[in-house]
Amino acid sequence: MRGLIVAGNWKMNGNQQFVDDMLFSLNKVEFSESVEVIVFPPSVYLHAARQQAKTVKVGAQNIFFESSGAYTGEISPSMLSDIDCRYVILGHSERRAIFSEDDDLIAKKVVASIENDLVPILCVGETLEDRESGRFFEVIARQVKIGLSLLQAEQVARVIVAYEPVWAIGTGKTASPLQAQEVHGLIRRLVAELVGEQISESISILYGGSVNAANAKELFSQPDIDGGLVGGASLKVDEFLAICSAA
Ligand code: PGA
Repeated sequence: MRGLIVAGNWKMNGNQQFVDDMLFSLNKVEFSESVEVIVFPPSVYLHAARQQAKTVKVGAQNIFFESSGAYTGEISPSMLSDIDCRYVILGHSERRAIFSEDDDLIAKKVVASIENDLVPILCVGETLEDRESGRFFEVIARQVKIGLSLLQAEQVARVIVAYEPVWAIGTGKTASPLQAQEVHGLIRRLVAELVGEQISESISILYGGSVNAANAKELFSQPDIDGGLVGGASLKVDEFLAICSAA
């Protein structure tokens, strides 16, 4: 009953030509009805991508939580809704590490996105140090709990969670399917404790961190892995399509 999702996070890559070429290629593909494919271009290309996209959804890589005002450089949830972009990545580890976003700020963005009919992809994940200390799930649990803390239970049902171990992002090191499944299972159990089993069974939990055409199938076949958030491999159309077919 949970949706399978393949999300392509383009990060700060590409140009207008890249956007045109990608959407031209993606528009020719008939994706399986059981898979939702979403691409996340840099914000300057969102509107054009949204207008071109026929077979995939388009989302943003970040938003601010206020709806308008003196926030130079930011875009608001209502602006995304306005151009009919319904998805937004929040709390990506690069935002947390490079732009000092903390759990409380991310929680405000999560609730603001829900209030504007957007679907947030809440990213969580431990650093290598957290993993090696053995206490990685404490970190992940804190990120999940605070990230969802401003939502009513029924609003949690509209969130997608992405587990992205920081040590696996852009490094070529993937969590093994069993390592990833373990964390996905723990996240689902935690969400059940917070808002009940029914909601926790209904939400999609994506894996991210060096997903590629070779490892996607085994990762996505784990019981609690409902697709992937793909960075580097989403910039190569053939590889991205191979990942979509693995879902
Ligand atoms: P990667 O990035 O696939 O390049 O590891 C994933 C992400 O940061 O979402």
